[in-house]
Amino acid sequence: MASEPVKRGGWSINDFEIGKRLGQGKFGRVYLAREAKSQYIVALKVIFKEQLEKYRMHHQLKREMEIQRNLRHPHVLRLYGWFHDAERIFLILEYAHGGELYKELHRIHHFSEKQAATYIASLSHALAYCHEKHVIHRDIKPENLLLDHEGRLKIADFGWSVQSQNKRHTLCGTLDYLAPEMVENKSHDYAVDNWTLGVLCYEFLYGAPPFEADNQADTFRRIMKVDLTFPSTPHVSTDAKVLIMQLLVKDSAKRLSLEKILQHPWIIKNADPNDTILK
Ligand code: AMP
Repeated sequence: MASEPVKRGGWSINDFEIGKRLGQGKFGRVYLAREAKSQYIVALKVIFKEQLEKYRMHHQLKREMEIQRNLRHPHVLRLYGWFHDAERIFLILEYAHGGELYKELHRIHHFSEKQAATYIASLSHALAYCHEKHVIHRDIKPENLLLDHEGRLKIADFGWSVQSQNKRHTLCGTLDYLAPEMVENKSHDYAVDNWTLGVLCYEFLYGAPPFEADNQADTFRRIMKVDLTFPSTPHVSTDAKVLIMQLLVKDSAKRLSLEKILQHPWIIKNADPNDTILK
């Protein structure tokens, strides 16, 4: 494989051959592209400056880019670099051939325990790495998880992440995945990502997040009460439910740590060590 694209003095659009459109985001489009000199395949995310300014998102994007640029982990989507012209900003991203994990989940309704445990182990490794670097993602949800050509999970989209050693005070993230301390707008720390792992583990196994409701107010209430019920489906083992219950704990200090998730009997029994690339 060609080595990753590097360039002194800055990239421009002329360095790339543009291929098919991979997707459409809120602020622009994503294309398959090849760096002409190295022939390296990447995903090029094109963001219109006008859109960014309209939604006052430029500070957030800048933060996202700076954080992601410095992260190097097999389960974190690489950002190789960026450049801009008068109207657009281009992000040079690792290409995730398998696309969104969300689409795969909806296609097959729920994952097997083996698949779910493998993804949770990959996420735990990646988040442990992020937390070590003082990055809290805060917006882990299936739409932000991509798969590479071998089906390995990659965390993408650092739009809501923060790099800080202090407890944070802003309310953000997507409702169904929010930890109680975020719903209540209290200060929060790394443990918000551990809560989200519990939500995701449930969604991977049952096909829908645990606190889903018809309206936002009811979801808030269900999260605050930790109103957790398990459908009686035979494909989910007791060990999996125990892990979910150890993560969906209201007191953030009592949630299972990432290290303990990786030692959990359900993970040990089900996660495929070949798909979970260790640090
Ligand atoms: P986004 O603007 O990040 O929400 O991206 C829009 C869509 O483009 C996503 O839903 C994916 O389907 C696709 N996409 C984004 N980034 C990549 C990537 N690095 N590799 C492959 N597909 C991508």
